[in-house]
Amino acid sequence: MRIDDRYGRPLRNLRISVTDRCNLRCQYCMPEEEYVWLPREEILHFEEISALTDVFMDLGVDKIRLTGGEPLLRRDLPRLIRLLAPKPRLRDLAITTNGVLLLEQARALKDAGLHRVTVSLDTLRPDRFAALTRRQTHAQVLEGIGALARVGFAGTKLDTVVIRGVNEDEIVDLIEFGKQAPAEVRFIEYMDVGGATRWSMDQVVSRVEMLKILESRYGRIEPVLEETTAPADRYRLPDGTVFGVISSTTAPFCAACDRSRLTADGVWYLCLYALQGTDLRGPVRRGATREELAGLVTGRWRERADRGAEQRLALRERTPLVQIARLKEDPHLEMHTRGG
Ligand code: SAM
Ligand code: SF4
Ligand code: SF4
Repeated sequence: MRIDDRYGRPLRNLRISVTDRCNLRCQYCMPEEEYVWLPREEILHFEEISALTDVFMDLGVDKIRLTGGEPLLRRDLPRLIRLLAPKPRLRDLAITTNGVLLLEQARALKDAGLHRVTVSLDTLRPDRFAALTRRQTHAQVLEGIGALARVGFAGTKLDTVVIRGVNEDEIVDLIEFGKQAPAEVRFIEYMDVGGATRWSMDQVVSRVEMLKILESRYGRIEPVLEETTAPADRYRLPDGTVFGVISSTTAPFCAACDRSRLTADGVWYLCLYALQGTDLRGPVRRGATREELAGLVTGRWRERADRGAEQRLALRERTPLVQIARLKEDPHLEMHTRGG
């Protein structure tokens, strides 16, 4: 089954946030120390997530990414993976993690049936990591990345948010680190979403700039030509190394966007920038049938006209999407709540 939105984009990709909590405080995502957390009793149980996943899969979703907050903080996460992995329509089951708890959990995640892991890694320097995340756990992240190949994971990705004056001088080093990990590095343009309350356009290092830096080090860079709705444009270095750039800020890819997001408490968002979502926890807990839930999801998706990043790009004066007072009133607007 396939359902299309108003621009003919199918629903294929679901990012599920399993917790809003995090053990880092990245400056571009959670600049405050304290947050208003989602009430525990409102967090979806694994069986509820699994039931909702069935509804989404009936409607065409075949790629699932678990995220957060920090997904490895969710107790007994492998049990959720064991519920999701056997679903017949599932083509891709991945996780995005900051890697801090990966060393201890990699084997259990693999054994549970997780397909792939993406680790967020913004810097190779412990002092920078401490300044950027306000935690001292850089060595754990690197050990966690090291554990992935040992327990049998392939297709690992490393996601780096590139910020001017913070880490743009490390993109060559990160490519070299990726070669030996082994992992495909993806550079993400700094976005003005959710908790990025200190964002400003002059801190954004554009895809064009990143490619220039890499070309001056490696020589000619070829685009990898492929038909995909993945957000990253992929490129190949002369030695065959492939890397990606996610240019959400300067060259957004809304036209092909088949992604939506489910928060840990069951609110479904049609776009990373959407200010309103649809509560699915309520209907699930009131005993809605699979057909009723499918009707709700279908109705919303068919009405979808979101092109958040493109609309942001069209603005002349661009400031952070949401101001801090508003984030405090509605934590659903936070990136760590809706999942990046
Ligand atoms: N905690 C996990 C992690 O960091 O990998 C998963 C959740 S995190 C919100 C998902 C991704 O969003 C991370 O790769 C993070 O770097 C990215 N992200 C968060 N805020 C961002 C921003 N303002 N601009 C670009 N990417 C951002
Ligand atoms: Fe950093 Fe991810 Fe935590 Fe946000 S959710 S503070 S990006 S580790
Ligand atoms: Fe999709 Fe919204 Fe991101 Fe555009 S801004 S790519 S529509 S999630």
